[in-house]
Amino acid sequence: MKYELQTIPVLDAYQARPHCVLCYLERQSEERNTTFFLGNSIMAPEMRVRLNEHGFCPRHLYKLLDGEGKLGYSLALATHLDSVNKRVASQLAAVSRSRGRALARSAAEFCRRLADQERDCLMCERIRTNLLNFTYTVVRLYADEPEFKETLRQSTGFCFHHLQDLVPMAPEVLRGTQLDEWFTDLIALHERSTATVIDDLEAFTWQFDYQTELTTPEHARDAVPRAVAKLAGNR
Ligand SMILES: [Zn+2]
Ligand SMILES: [Zn+2]
Repeated sequence: MKYELQTIPVLDAYQARPHCVLCYLERQSEERNTTFFLGNSIMAPEMRVRLNEHGFCPRHLYKLLDGEGKLGYSLALATHLDSVNKRVASQLAAVSRSRGRALARSAAEFCRRLADQERDCLMCERIRTNLLNFTYTVVRLYADEPEFKETLRQSTGFCFHHLQDLVPMAPEVLRGTQLDEWFTDLIALHERSTATVIDDLEAFTWQFDYQTELTTPEHARDAVPRAVAKLAGNR
Protein backbone atom coordinates (compact mmCIF):
# COMPACT_ATOMS: atom_id res chain seq x y z
CA MET A 1 0.00 0.00 0.00
CA LYS A 2 1.17 3.54 -0.76
CA TYR A 3 1.24 5.94 2.20
CA GLU A 4 1.68 9.71 2.45
CA LEU A 5 4.38 11.26 4.61
CA GLN A 6 2.84 13.64 7.21
CA THR A 7 5.98 14.93 8.96
CA ILE A 8 4.73 18.28 10.32
CA PRO A 9 1.54 17.02 12.08
CA VAL A 10 3.47 14.08 13.55
CA LEU A 11 6.31 16.26 14.91
CA ASP A 12 3.75 18.75 16.28
CA ALA A 13 1.95 15.88 18.01
CA TYR A 14 5.20 14.81 19.73
CA GLN A 15 5.68 18.42 20.93
CA ALA A 16 2.25 18.28 22.63
CA ARG A 17 3.34 15.14 24.62
CA PRO A 18 -0.04 13.36 24.56
CA HIS A 19 -0.43 9.91 26.18
CA CYS A 20 -0.29 8.43 22.64
CA VAL A 21 0.56 10.47 19.52
CA LEU A 22 -1.61 8.26 17.32
CA CYS A 23 -4.62 8.83 19.61
CA TYR A 24 -3.91 12.56 19.49
CA LEU A 25 -3.64 12.61 15.69
CA GLU A 26 -6.71 10.39 15.30
CA ARG A 27 -8.73 12.79 17.44
CA GLN A 28 -7.51 15.77 15.36
CA SER A 29 -8.48 13.93 12.18
CA GLU A 30 -11.94 13.21 13.60
CA GLU A 31 -12.45 16.91 14.42
CA ARG A 32 -11.30 18.00 10.96
CA ASN A 33 -13.56 15.44 9.30
CA THR A 34 -16.53 16.52 11.40
CA THR A 35 -16.04 20.08 10.11
CA PHE A 36 -15.62 18.71 6.58
CA PHE A 37 -18.83 16.66 6.65
CA LEU A 38 -20.81 19.53 8.18
CA GLY A 39 -19.56 21.95 5.50
CA ASN A 40 -20.65 22.48 1.92
CA SER A 41 -18.75 19.44 0.61
CA ILE A 42 -21.48 17.12 1.91
CA MET A 43 -23.87 18.69 -0.64
CA ALA A 44 -21.61 18.02 -3.66
CA PRO A 45 -23.23 15.55 -6.09
CA GLU A 46 -20.38 12.99 -5.86
CA MET A 47 -20.64 13.03 -2.06
CA ARG A 48 -24.42 12.47 -2.27
CA VAL A 49 -23.74 9.43 -4.48
CA ARG A 50 -21.24 8.05 -1.94
CA LEU A 51 -23.74 8.70 0.86
CA ASN A 52 -26.37 6.69 -1.02
CA GLU A 53 -24.11 3.69 -0.83
CA HIS A 54 -22.30 4.19 2.47
CA GLY A 55 -23.19 6.32 5.49
CA PHE A 56 -21.90 6.93 8.98
CA CYS A 57 -21.36 4.62 11.94
CA PRO A 58 -23.38 5.31 15.15
CA ARG A 59 -20.44 7.17 16.78
CA HIS A 60 -20.09 9.54 13.83
CA LEU A 61 -23.84 10.03 13.32
CA TYR A 62 -23.92 11.41 16.87
CA LYS A 63 -20.63 13.31 16.47
CA LEU A 64 -22.10 15.11 13.43
CA LEU A 65 -25.34 15.70 15.34
CA ASP A 66 -23.35 17.53 18.06
CA GLY A 67 -21.51 19.70 15.50
CA GLU A 68 -22.36 23.15 14.18
CA GLY A 69 -24.46 23.52 11.03
CA LYS A 70 -27.37 21.28 10.12
CA LEU A 71 -28.33 22.17 6.53
CA GLY A 72 -25.81 19.91 4.79
CA TYR A 73 -26.35 17.23 7.40
CA SER A 74 -30.14 17.26 7.00
CA LEU A 75 -29.82 16.85 3.20
CA ALA A 76 -27.25 14.09 3.63
CA LEU A 77 -29.45 12.28 6.15
CA ALA A 78 -32.49 12.51 3.86
CA THR A 79 -30.52 11.01 0.93
CA HIS A 80 -28.95 8.31 3.06
CA LEU A 81 -32.07 7.40 5.04
CA ASP A 82 -34.04 6.98 1.83
CA SER A 83 -31.45 4.66 0.29
CA VAL A 84 -31.00 2.60 3.50
CA ASN A 85 -34.74 2.33 3.86
CA LYS A 86 -35.18 0.98 0.30
CA ARG A 87 -32.47 -1.65 0.84
CA VAL A 88 -33.78 -2.69 4.26
CA ALA A 89 -37.41 -2.82 3.06
CA SER A 90 -36.57 -5.23 0.23
CA GLN A 91 -34.44 -7.42 2.53
CA LEU A 92 -37.21 -7.44 5.13
CA ALA A 93 -39.76 -8.42 2.48
CA ALA A 94 -37.48 -11.35 1.50
CA VAL A 95 -37.35 -12.49 5.16
CA SER A 96 -41.13 -12.24 5.50
CA ARG A 97 -41.65 -14.53 2.47
CA SER A 98 -39.40 -17.30 3.87
CA ARG A 99 -40.47 -20.09 6.18
CA GLY A 100 -38.82 -22.95 8.08
CA ARG A 101 -35.01 -23.19 7.82
CA ALA A 102 -34.96 -20.65 5.01
CA LEU A 103 -36.51 -18.12 7.39
CA ALA A 104 -33.75 -18.59 10.00
CA ARG A 105 -31.15 -18.25 7.23
CA SER A 106 -32.64 -15.12 5.71
CA ALA A 107 -33.18 -13.56 9.17
CA ALA A 108 -29.47 -14.14 9.93
CA GLU A 109 -28.53 -12.65 6.55
CA PHE A 110 -30.79 -9.65 7.24
CA CYS A 111 -29.02 -9.05 10.59
CA ARG A 112 -25.57 -9.44 9.01
CA ARG A 113 -26.36 -6.84 6.35
CA LEU A 114 -27.76 -4.41 8.90
CA ALA A 115 -24.62 -4.81 11.06
CA ASP A 116 -22.44 -4.22 7.95
CA GLN A 117 -24.48 -1.10 7.23
CA GLU A 118 -23.74 0.21 10.75
CA ARG A 119 -20.01 -0.29 10.25
CA ASP A 120 -19.91 1.27 6.76
CA CYS A 121 -18.81 4.84 7.55
CA LEU A 122 -17.36 7.49 5.23
CA MET A 123 -15.85 9.32 8.19
CA CYS A 124 -14.20 6.19 9.69
CA GLU A 125 -12.78 5.45 6.23
CA ARG A 126 -11.15 8.91 5.93
CA ILE A 127 -9.84 8.83 9.53
CA ARG A 128 -8.42 5.35 8.91
CA THR A 129 -6.51 6.57 5.83
CA ASN A 130 -5.13 9.50 7.87
CA LEU A 131 -4.13 7.22 10.73
CA LEU A 132 -2.26 4.81 8.44
CA ASN A 133 -0.35 7.80 6.98
CA PHE A 134 0.53 9.01 10.50
CA THR A 135 1.65 5.52 11.56
CA TYR A 136 3.76 5.25 8.40
CA THR A 137 5.30 8.67 9.14
CA VAL A 138 6.28 7.66 12.71
CA VAL A 139 8.12 4.59 11.43
CA ARG A 140 9.59 6.46 8.41
CA LEU A 141 10.95 9.24 10.67
CA TYR A 142 12.46 6.56 12.92
CA ALA A 143 14.23 5.11 9.86
CA ASP A 144 15.44 8.42 8.38
CA GLU A 145 15.96 10.94 11.19
CA PRO A 146 18.48 9.99 13.91
CA GLU A 147 17.20 12.70 16.28
CA PHE A 148 13.64 11.36 15.96
CA LYS A 149 14.78 8.07 17.53
CA GLU A 150 15.54 10.01 20.71
CA THR A 151 12.19 11.86 20.49
CA LEU A 152 10.40 8.51 20.30
CA ARG A 153 12.44 6.97 23.15
CA GLN A 154 11.73 9.95 25.43
CA SER A 155 8.03 10.10 24.55
CA THR A 156 5.06 8.94 26.63
CA GLY A 157 4.58 5.85 24.42
CA PHE A 158 1.57 4.47 22.60
CA CYS A 159 -1.72 3.00 23.77
CA PHE A 160 -2.31 -0.76 23.46
CA HIS A 161 -4.95 -0.16 20.75
CA HIS A 162 -2.51 1.54 18.37
CA LEU A 163 0.09 -1.21 18.70
CA GLN A 164 -2.20 -2.96 16.21
CA ASP A 165 -1.15 -0.36 13.63
CA LEU A 166 2.46 0.16 14.63
CA VAL A 167 3.56 -3.47 14.78
CA PRO A 168 2.51 -4.47 11.21
CA MET A 169 3.77 -1.13 9.79
CA ALA A 170 7.37 -1.71 10.99
CA PRO A 171 8.27 -4.52 8.52
CA GLU A 172 6.74 -2.50 5.66
CA VAL A 173 9.29 0.28 6.25
CA LEU A 174 12.29 -1.15 8.12
CA ARG A 175 14.76 -3.93 7.34
CA GLY A 176 17.58 -5.79 9.14
CA THR A 177 19.22 -4.08 12.11
CA GLN A 178 16.83 -1.10 11.89
CA LEU A 179 13.91 -3.47 12.41
CA ASP A 180 15.69 -5.09 15.40
CA GLU A 181 16.41 -1.68 16.89
CA TRP A 182 12.80 -0.52 16.35
CA PHE A 183 11.36 -3.48 18.24
CA THR A 184 13.90 -3.07 21.08
CA ASP A 185 12.94 0.61 21.40
CA LEU A 186 9.20 -0.02 21.05
CA ILE A 187 9.21 -2.73 23.74
CA ALA A 188 11.30 -0.61 26.15
CA LEU A 189 9.06 2.43 25.56
CA HIS A 190 5.89 0.42 26.06
CA GLU A 191 7.19 -1.21 29.25
CA ARG A 192 8.32 2.10 30.73
CA SER A 193 5.19 4.07 29.81
CA THR A 194 2.84 1.34 31.06
CA ALA A 195 4.80 1.01 34.34
CA THR A 196 4.41 4.80 34.83
CA VAL A 197 0.62 4.53 34.47
CA ILE A 198 0.49 1.60 36.94
CA ASP A 199 2.62 3.54 39.47
CA ASP A 200 0.38 6.59 39.06
CA LEU A 201 -2.74 4.46 39.64
CA GLU A 202 -1.27 3.32 42.93
CA ALA A 203 -0.37 6.88 43.91
CA PHE A 204 -3.95 7.91 43.00
CA THR A 205 -5.35 5.56 45.67
CA TRP A 206 -3.28 7.15 48.48
CA GLN A 207 -5.83 9.97 48.86
CA PHE A 208 -8.44 7.38 49.96
CA ASP A 209 -6.14 5.49 52.35
CA TYR A 210 -6.28 6.97 55.85
CA GLN A 211 -3.57 4.61 57.08
CA THR A 212 -0.90 6.12 54.88
CA GLU A 213 1.00 9.36 55.31
CA LEU A 214 1.48 9.52 51.53
CA THR A 215 -0.42 12.15 49.57
CA THR A 216 -1.39 11.72 45.94
CA PRO A 217 1.02 13.83 43.84
CA GLU A 218 -0.43 16.28 41.31
CA HIS A 219 0.77 14.27 38.29
CA ALA A 220 -1.18 11.17 39.48
CA ARG A 221 -4.57 12.90 39.82
CA ASP A 222 -5.62 11.96 36.26
CA ALA A 223 -4.23 8.39 36.54
CA VAL A 224 -7.63 6.71 36.01
CA PRO A 225 -8.51 8.34 32.65
CA ARG A 226 -4.88 7.86 31.56
CA ALA A 227 -5.06 4.14 32.40
CA VAL A 228 -8.29 3.81 30.40
CA ALA A 229 -6.73 5.68 27.45
CA LYS A 230 -3.64 3.45 27.66
CA LEU A 231 -5.80 0.35 27.33
CA ALA A 232 -8.54 1.53 24.99
CA GLY A 233 -6.98 4.37 22.97
CA ASN A 234 -9.01 7.26 21.66
CA ARG A 235 -12.65 6.23 22.04
ZN1 LIG B 1 -3.36 5.43 20.77
ZN1 LIG C 1 -17.46 6.19 11.78
